[in-house]
Amino acid sequence: MGRTVAVVGGGYGGSLVARELDDVADVVLIDPRDAFVNAAGSLRALTRPDWAPRIFFPFDTLLTRGRFVRDAAVSVDARGVALASGGRVEADYVVLATGSGYTFPGKPRPGVTDTAEALADLRASHEQLAGAGRVLIVGAGPVGLELAGEINDAWPDKHVVVVDRNEQLLPFLLPEVRDDLRTQLDKAGVELRLGAGLASAPPVGPGRAGEFRVATEGGEEITADIWFRTYGLSLNTGWLPGGELTSRGTVPVTERLTVRGYDRMYALGDIVDLPDPKMASYAQQQAQTVVANIGAQLAGERPEAVHPVSPHRRMLIPLGTRGGAGQMPAPGGVAPVSVETVRERKGADLFTAQFARRFRS
Ligand SMILES: Cc1cc2nc3c(=O)[nH]c(=O)nc-3n(C[C@H](O)[C@H](O)[C@H](O)COP(=O)(O)OP(=O)(O)OC[C@H]3O[C@@H](n4cnc5c(N)ncnc54)[C@H](O)[C@@H]3O)c2cc1C
Repeated sequence: MGRTVAVVGGGYGGSLVARELDDVADVVLIDPRDAFVNAAGSLRALTRPDWAPRIFFPFDTLLTRGRFVRDAAVSVDARGVALASGGRVEADYVVLATGSGYTFPGKPRPGVTDTAEALADLRASHEQLAGAGRVLIVGAGPVGLELAGEINDAWPDKHVVVVDRNEQLLPFLLPEVRDDLRTQLDKAGVELRLGAGLASAPPVGPGRAGEFRVATEGGEEITADIWFRTYGLSLNTGWLPGGELTSRGTVPVTERLTVRGYDRMYALGDIVDLPDPKMASYAQQQAQTVVANIGAQLAGERPEAVHPVSPHRRMLIPLGTRGGAGQMPAPGGVAPVSVETVRERKGADLFTAQFARRFRS
């Protein structure tokens, strides 16, 4: 058995597996992008163009022994990965980590794989937003609230309205955390309207300036100058054989994170069929299980690491650089954390330092 590990997708989970196995295996990382995108920073990248380059980490510097192949996978089997360019990467182990897309500006638009183009997109949208006095955000999930916080931080005078069809704000969070977020948004003048789905989409495209009026399903009118859609995650599993996916389009995995039916093909992150939330922190935790199991197999041992699925959700939601709320693991479950913790662990730099270390930049 050889030692080549093909990692398909260099997002939060895939880049961690590639980096961790670089010393002990011949790693080939495959991704159509030129750089890892730290999505956690993309909302600040929209509001602060001078800061925006910090969310991109070129793949060139990730590996010292292994190689990076800039290409998209189009199919996979137990022996390797076929590429869009027509090439093929032969491998002894394969890690599927192609993650998900999200509505812009949460992640780059579909097909945008160059950092320069992604930055130009962010800058163009920033210019449209800069001139807009009233902003409508459709979707009061973590991304919608963080976007409201970043806009308020950069332009305290803009009027921001966040609408959501759901009656309850972030039902998976502790009530104290939800109340804290509501209070802070209220203080900042951000208007939150729950149970208020839009009756129809605004007549202008998202992220484009132009005054418009829309009605909610309950008949309330909202006038704004620009809007953003902050929901709509799409799994990047369309390239995998449909017959091997679940009916939800996810990849079925064992508790050791092998793809069901395979001994040396693993999967992690947003694409896997686990109850874990679709979050980077869970993708990175799963990556550690994959690293342990492939490491064991490379050493001739049994792969016995099991991914622990927890019913408790950890989450930090910064509102700009100074505010926010969240909950972290605590004995018996999770507990609210202070705004200082949210700021230190996320809000201040949105994980930039962590990825600068991973990518040696
Ligand atoms: C605005 C925003 C903020 C967020 N903030 C947080 C946060 O603070 N904390 C948190 O835990 N989570 C956060 N998330 C969620 C987090 O971004 C995702 O859970 C995470 O990206 C999933 O990681 P992943 O490793 O599965 O794949 P991804 O990070 O989605 O990366 C997948 C990679 O695969 C590549 N790829 C796709 N198709 C192919 C192919 N066919 N061949 C080869 N490569 C391919 C892509 O180019 C990409 O580089 C946020 C999401 C958004 C949108």
